[in-house]
Amino acid sequence: MDNFGISEKSRICYGLRALDCSDFIEVDGYIVDKSVLGDFNKLKASLSGFGFALRIESAYRPFERQLSIWNRKAKGELQLLDAEGLPMERPKDEEQLMYAILTWSALPGASRHHLGTDLDVVDAKACPDGYEVQLTPAECDGMFRPFHEKLTQMMGAAESFGFERVFVPGRGKIQPEKWHIAHLPTSRKYLESFSLKDLRAIYEKTDIACKSALLDNLDSLAENYIYPYFV
Ligand SMILES: [Zn+2]
Repeated sequence: MDNFGISEKSRICYGLRALDCSDFIEVDGYIVDKSVLGDFNKLKASLSGFGFALRIESAYRPFERQLSIWNRKAKGELQLLDAEGLPMERPKDEEQLMYAILTWSALPGASRHHLGTDLDVVDAKACPDGYEVQLTPAECDGMFRPFHEKLTQMMGAAESFGFERVFVPGRGKIQPEKWHIAHLPTSRKYLESFSLKDLRAIYEKTDIACKSALLDNLDSLAENYIYPYFV
């Protein structure tokens, strides 16, 4: 992956942060912003001392990949899940469909995974052989519970090396995602230059499902699904 799959569109949405490929580095097969690497390694080492094996399940994701997830969910090629993480039927109405996708998938162009500072993580040691991680609330309350309890404790004690959860209860309309951690000192810098106007312009010229619902509701979507997570 010579250019790390970094796309022009995800750069534009986040305000043309002056990134080029030299800002990114590959870690365990995933792409992350170089600035988070030192603290990631510290977090991993610290968790290892408590018997956990921090493993990345997702990191940097370009616009095109988020768009593909979005469009496949809209077409029914990927299963839609309800707020509890259970399979749900695909709404016929475009606006309802859009909100159903938004329950678990970020708006392409506004996903925090475009930043390279956010990671989805699990405890590899808790995974049974051959288990395919789903990233669901059920896993967090099940096999990964001790791991998440330790993470919560470390975050509460300011011992998580700048990593915090951002999708937490009571904030915005995105379902809580315990597995999603963000290196806030780095992401804060990048979020400063986010532009909703640029995002709108990108939607206007992109083949994106639920396009008119997105454009009609963009301001309120930003209030509920984007800005609450600029922390
Ligand atoms: Zn995530």
